[in-house]
Amino acid sequence: MNRKQIPLSKEDLEKIAREYPTPFHLYDEKAIRENARAFYRAFSWAAGFKNYFAVKACPNPTILQILKEEGMGVDCSSQTELVLSEKVGFRSGGIMFTSNDTPDEEFVTAVRQGAVINLDDIRHIDALERSAGIPELLSFRYNPGDSRSGNVLIGLPQEAKYGVTRDQIVEAFRIAKNKGAKRFALHTMVASNELDENYFVETARMLFELAVKIKNEVGVNIETVNMGGGLGIPYRPKERAINTDALADKIHSLYEKIIIPASLAPVKVVFECGRLITGPYGYLISRVLHVTSKYKEYVGLDASMANLMRPGIYGAYHHITVSGKENEPHDCLYDVTGSLCENADKFAIDRNLPQVESGDLVVIHDTGAHGYSMGYNYNGKLRSAELLLRENGDVQLIRRAETIDDYFATMRFPGAPVGV
Ligand SMILES: *Cc1c(COP(=O)(O)O)cnc(C)c1O
Repeated sequence: MNRKQIPLSKEDLEKIAREYPTPFHLYDEKAIRENARAFYRAFSWAAGFKNYFAVKACPNPTILQILKEEGMGVDCSSQTELVLSEKVGFRSGGIMFTSNDTPDEEFVTAVRQGAVINLDDIRHIDALERSAGIPELLSFRYNPGDSRSGNVLIGLPQEAKYGVTRDQIVEAFRIAKNKGAKRFALHTMVASNELDENYFVETARMLFELAVKIKNEVGVNIETVNMGGGLGIPYRPKERAINTDALADKIHSLYEKIIIPASLAPVKVVFECGRLITGPYGYLISRVLHVTSKYKEYVGLDASMANLMRPGIYGAYHHITVSGKENEPHDCLYDVTGSLCENADKFAIDRNLPQVESGDLVVIHDTGAHGYSMGYNYNGKLRSAELLLRENGDVQLIRRAETIDDYFATMRFPGAPVGV
């Protein structure tokens, strides 16, 4: 059981809300740092261990800076993410570029930065050579197809658009070698929000065995095995977090069993986790505007899908607490909604909560990854601020809320308002 508690009282939240109007996302720096350290401690046996934080999970420079201080790199998949990472100060070995359907100019930027290029397709070798040249170090994303079952969230590997197939992967390394690459890495990602650590143990086995096969058939040593992201978090109070110590131990055993006898060591083990790193340590704070009684009972918030898409697009569960009413009986059944003209704009359906009144502050949990970053501007809704709860208890604005001027900034028409 995880307790789903924000480390702030109702009084604390009201005080913050007086300075920064709701809705806003709030991240807990102390918890993010402690979690990052625990992850690294679990893999302390693995020389050169690194997590390349998936920027898309929480593309805020202050958060990226914190993760950089904890020894992480970044995993980018677009020009903007590469530029953002460079601005935060990530350099060559700290940047992984795992893109797909990649425009030439993104290869150019990634190569200029010295990022590790993780190619999604065997034909992309040519595109990379033509646009930016073959770098010394080259990685491929492997898609095992029907030899792995995938998981419910990401679907079957053979239905996924990503990666080099089983038939192509050895040939891909051969081509890269012939074109002058000198150092090689291997990547896969076949699950999303998976809570069973054994899934990733099997992924490690698959990649380690493939590294041996590539050594035998192409004569190159894979120097880095990249397990991707996809490690899940317990969104529901009843779910259990991944035991990263057990995961690391099991991968260590496989390393001793497969990599060492094949004389491949040292092979670096790396991940691209986003959700696991910041997901549980972010909260969307919103105020109840209206409680209404129709064919069902509704709690209407000042946040909407513009701030958090996951429930609307995936039916994803996010735990919700009502600040100051955590210990009251949860005997009312509500749909918790935003204000979009879109019936999918619900944070929860048929959720038991305490009796809610307009003006209450609601905490939506586990929004630290794939939360703010997925937001959009439908109905002209503006994206919220992001705040950081610092280790000393101060609250820092790390992204201001959008204004209506931001919304109009890209429009070109005669009556375009100036300084609305
Ligand atoms: C989205 C993504 C990740 C991060 O996924 P999480 O679920 O946040 O761990 C890592 N690598 C790649 C290539 C991705 O597309």
